[in-house]
Amino acid sequence: MTQPGPRLPEEFRALRAVKDESGARSEFQTLTLADLPAGDALVRVTHSSLNYKDGLAVAGRPGVLKSYPMTPGIDLAGTVVEDRSGTYAPGTPVLLTGWGIGERQDGGYAEYARVRPEWLVPLPEGTDARWAMSVGTAGFTAMLAVMALEEHGVTPGSGEVLVTGAAGGVGSTAVALLAAAGFAVTASTGRQEEEAYLRSLGASSVIGREELPALKRPLEKERWAGVVDSVGADTLAGALASTRTHGAVAACGLAGGNALDTTVFPFILRGVNLLGIDSVNCPAERRRAAWARLARDLPADRLADVTQVRPLSDVPALAGEILAGRVRGRTVIEVG
Ligand code: NDP
Repeated sequence: MTQPGPRLPEEFRALRAVKDESGARSEFQTLTLADLPAGDALVRVTHSSLNYKDGLAVAGRPGVLKSYPMTPGIDLAGTVVEDRSGTYAPGTPVLLTGWGIGERQDGGYAEYARVRPEWLVPLPEGTDARWAMSVGTAGFTAMLAVMALEEHGVTPGSGEVLVTGAAGGVGSTAVALLAAAGFAVTASTGRQEEEAYLRSLGASSVIGREELPALKRPLEKERWAGVVDSVGADTLAGALASTRTHGAVAACGLAGGNALDTTVFPFILRGVNLLGIDSVNCPAERRRAAWARLARDLPADRLADVTQVRPLSDVPALAGEILAGRVRGRTVIEVG
């Protein structure tokens, strides 16, 4: 006897980025499954998250979305409805970050998504969709950055580590992960009012953005054993010049700008390593390893203070907030 197939919806809700003569903007639309892109796996999306990139896409800023109309949302979590590849049974809880969703094809700000099964990661044991999205791309990126520092020999015994843009999504999770791994973490923030929050995540010291030495000389006093940088530009240049001999700097972001005006001296005189972090095309095996460690080191209760939960209808307003640097930590979006 054949099993009855899953009940599929007639229509569902999505936040869509559209573009016409008046420019790019976002609006809520009702879609059908026929509107979704090709792909073997259909996922019922229950949660997504808000990242800086999502802010840009929803606010109609150029650079993130490769075509229109498009459903933004670079993260999603939910359950598999059907998978024609046979990899996942219906009902399997899964998460998906990156791989171009919410950029090149429809993403997480819709109640259903059709994707490639090989992009999916089964939710780690003991976690749920809300936890996965409180981690999201930002937390996953922070995990990749910490793993990269460790692989380049940075250990808690190496000395102080710096996290820049510390009150943001990548920064907050990096502080929590590094503290959980036993590092002495210095958190750099432009928001001194977030000091108590950053200390609650495990930072042993909190400094103002302006306290990071601007790059005056190619080599500054050696201070950091390792750096997780989500700011870029002068902040990254200054961090490189202040990193200790054989230390490493994980470059994750560009919240302060994409230029990098520096010299080769930190690399050739101190053996400093500049490590590029890319969460979008990270290979499947490394993804699973990172998610397993996130589940171990950042259980839901540790993330509670870092996370706000908001409905999909709030995303247009939240986009402006994250672009203005006013969002603290992570934002989970309840999709349906
Ligand atoms: P958030 O907006 O949550 O955090 C960014 C933080 O950077 C802010 O909270 C603020 O921290 C700081 N900041 C903002 N503007 C400036 C500025 N002009 N000068 C100095 N510091 C500033 O974003 P996310 O954490 O989600 O992302 C951080 C960066 O990482 C972004 O550039 C994003 O595009 C990138 N990213 C890259 C990924 C990858 O795969 N490599 C994946 C995910 C994100 P504070 O208030 O503490 O100063």
